[in-house]
Amino acid sequence: FTSSPTRPGLHIIHIAAEMAPVAKVGGLGDVVTGLGKALQKKGHLVEIVLPKYDCMQYESIIDMKALDVVVESYFDGRLYKNKIWTGTVEGLPVYFIEPQHPGKFFCRGQLYGEHDDFKRFSYFSRVALELLLHAEKRPDIIHCHDWQTAFVAPLYWDLYVPKGLDSARICFTCHNFEYQGTAPASELTSCGLDAYHLNRPDRMQDNSANDRINSVKGAIVFSNIVTTVSPTYAQEVRTAQGGKGLHATINSHSKKFAGILNGIDTDAWNPASDNFLKVQYSASDIEGKLENKEALRRLLGLSSSEIRQPLVGCITRLVPQKGVHLIRHAIYRTLELGGQFVLLGSSPVPHIQREFEDIGNRFQNHEHARLVLKYDEALSHLIYAASDMLIIPSIFEPCGLTQMIAMRYGSIPIARKTGGLNDSVFDVDDDTIPVQFRNGFTFVTADEQGFNNALERAFNYYMNDAETWKEFVQKDMSMDFSWDSSASQYEELYEKAVLRARTASRS
Ligand code: ADP
Repeated sequence: FTSSPTRPGLHIIHIAAEMAPVAKVGGLGDVVTGLGKALQKKGHLVEIVLPKYDCMQYESIIDMKALDVVVESYFDGRLYKNKIWTGTVEGLPVYFIEPQHPGKFFCRGQLYGEHDDFKRFSYFSRVALELLLHAEKRPDIIHCHDWQTAFVAPLYWDLYVPKGLDSARICFTCHNFEYQGTAPASELTSCGLDAYHLNRPDRMQDNSANDRINSVKGAIVFSNIVTTVSPTYAQEVRTAQGGKGLHATINSHSKKFAGILNGIDTDAWNPASDNFLKVQYSASDIEGKLENKEALRRLLGLSSSEIRQPLVGCITRLVPQKGVHLIRHAIYRTLELGGQFVLLGSSPVPHIQREFEDIGNRFQNHEHARLVLKYDEALSHLIYAASDMLIIPSIFEPCGLTQMIAMRYGSIPIARKTGGLNDSVFDVDDDTIPVQFRNGFTFVTADEQGFNNALERAFNYYMNDAETWKEFVQKDMSMDFSWDSSASQYEELYEKAVLRARTASRS
């Protein structure tokens, strides 16, 4: 095990279900790695605890080895052994937990979407804490993320502080309040929590069903710090409309609740050094962007006859949150306006996946549109580099990373003004915004008309004023979306919480 820090920084342990690039479904994976690296750079000791999935990208783990220890953890009335692996991912030390449970919890060929997800991740949350206890770690902060590791908060206070793992403050970040991890109250007992004691309105009871518990609610109640991933989303979830049933809980814990905009990992997302690209380029030398556009067109079999034909990209999970009806509409509208469209997306919802497969088949040999309906990290990089515009017409968006990645690659975002999009994309034509912040095209109403207006304005600029467009591209590429300032905000919250704990224990 890594020893405790000898330097002055904090010891921070993230317990999470995702970490880019080894185990990533969406933005959560990017955040764990990006925030972790930024905090490490600031001098803190950062460690990560992850499940050992069968479907991880193992080639991105350096020095992976099994430790000569077995951690036993309680579940469903008995103890199960867990093999512990260590390795380094993106310079961060990671513990991987491999349960020796007959349920083969993390050998399912996918991260989520299994019938027993609640069981799998409540199990994982418990072993993660058992590991910290066993390894005699004394972290200052245990940072858990989303419903999958929300169990860590009540488990820590109810079971692990009494066992002596008591040095930490708990920080919980909710990356999306749509996913709350609810189940019949009795299922909570599997991981050793007391369902009778916790199934109360002021604890873990779901706000709309008194026989169910809600793990995200539990983490809001039992954590010292609760954050979400942008200031606007933090406001939205405090309303009945945006809180998905948790607004009252969030409001009654508002003192410890904050919205911090995610950054992006500017090493992993850097057009000047990105090996997935045909040609690297930078804000001061954007010629390479055109070569990537050409390479993408060739790769996907799109027409290259017109260099200045705008290429519109979309990279997303295809779920209702992302505005699938507007994405579908955008394909047709882009073609009507004379552009090209590339969609990279996949859907966990079978009827949405089928619907897009049908559309994809219709455009199979089309010269100007292509749908690639899978998850493909390498192709995503090339699309960011190749596209002139990227659409993000979300119905709601806790933070959103694709708009920031797009800007770093000189692709101008066309985004709906909601959540984190509202905190990072500012309309080129909005006179109320200082000129230096204006970086994209936005719309408010989530309908075709609203979207069309933003898309058409973008096309007008692109078609009529090449010089101004080039300036947009260079300006967006030079904007700072790194983790620096956001990591400082987390650091400040951690330090305040640690200080409060120390003051309280002295008095
Ligand atoms: P969410 O977390 O809701 O999925 P975000 O915008 O926060 O949305 O993060 C999406 C991340 O996942 C980005 O890094 C984006 O590039 C990536 N991504 C989404 N869909 C795909 C896909 N089909 N192939 C490759 N990367 C994808």
